[in-house]
Amino acid sequence: MYKVLKELKVELGERSYPIIIGQGLLGNYDLTPWVAGNQVMIVTNETVGPRYLEQAVACFPGKCVDVVTLPDGEKYKDWQTLNLIFDRLLERQHSRQTTLVALGGGVVGDMAGFAAACYQRSVPFIQIPTTLLSQVDSSVGGKTGINHPLGKNMVGAFHQPNIVLIDTDSLSTLPAREVSAGLAEVIKYGLIRDESFLGWLEGNIDALRRLEPDALGEAIYRSCLCKAEVVAVDEREGGLRAILNLGHTFGHAIETYAGYGNWLHGEAVGTGMLMASDLSLREGMIGQKEHERAAALIHRAGLPERPPKGMSPEDFMSRMAVDKKNVDGRLRLVLMRSLGDAFVTADAAPQNLKDTLLEFTR
Ligand code: NAD
Ligand code: MG
Repeated sequence: MYKVLKELKVELGERSYPIIIGQGLLGNYDLTPWVAGNQVMIVTNETVGPRYLEQAVACFPGKCVDVVTLPDGEKYKDWQTLNLIFDRLLERQHSRQTTLVALGGGVVGDMAGFAAACYQRSVPFIQIPTTLLSQVDSSVGGKTGINHPLGKNMVGAFHQPNIVLIDTDSLSTLPAREVSAGLAEVIKYGLIRDESFLGWLEGNIDALRRLEPDALGEAIYRSCLCKAEVVAVDEREGGLRAILNLGHTFGHAIETYAGYGNWLHGEAVGTGMLMASDLSLREGMIGQKEHERAAALIHRAGLPERPPKGMSPEDFMSRMAVDKKNVDGRLRLVLMRSLGDAFVTADAAPQNLKDTLLEFTR
């Protein structure tokens, strides 16, 4: 049987939905109350499907369940692959009452969610995230989409799921490097909004890397709670939601410099948060001790602490200039006033930014 460790709700009026966190949920938890009609289409990929598909199907007893298995990888988060979902839905004659289910990491979640937003002008969908990153971040908040050859996540829609089902057992097959990448986003929530969570993480980071269920349940719960609160205040990124991008401006520059796939997103965010912390220190916002606390946690999570060799300040600046947060050509960054209190600013002193970039590219 299963054990529910934690539950919470994302409050978005009539688009509100629950997040269930537990063990043994896959294969046992009945998701049929969250399905509108008789049809279900599970979207998964060639890595996750062989491991968890059978259990996912068992969550929909009595329903007519079809499956589409996508190739694995960020490079398939594109139109051609998205079309495979529509092909399958139409071949199998799925009506407007169908429910799409994302079984996989963030790539599958973003694509299945976008397909659900578009198919017959939108059908319901369910998230079953199977990476730590997708459990604490991408499955919550309703951003869906695909990449364009000229930019990541440039084509998409807001579409909230009906329910998010998080089975911590599914992380047992996740490579350690992916676990660390997910921990970067977990640490991010502490740094932007919750100093007490940072303290908790300092005591539990090793247990998390060992995938101890109770520690995972708590970390995922507090991360989802933080994201849910921010999203409830600012569903469409008019303001507050931008703080979720701590470390991401530097991080995106690293990801594009390295070439997508060479650095994991969370790894780039880890180094990016270190750089944002360094800049917050130079700006006189946080102190040396606070910076060192942030740095120690990022280190203990097993994340990289320097950008790729050869990357220059100019490599950063040219890539950061096209960030989505920028307004009217002014570079906007997420910095910390103190640990657990992030904000967006366009006023960082250019010399301090330069010094941070020099420090990390020496
Ligand atoms: P991913 O989906 O590529 O998964 C990482 C790897 O782990 C893949 O090879 C996947 O097949 C494999 N995998 C998944 N579950 C597994 C399991 N249980 N056991 C073994 N292997 C497993 O990457 P991700 O880090 O989960 O997500 C990254 C994507 O999420 C990016 O495309 C990013 O843009 C997107 N994202 C979206 C949001 C949002 O708000 N929508 C937020 C953050 C990130
Ligand atoms: Mg991120």
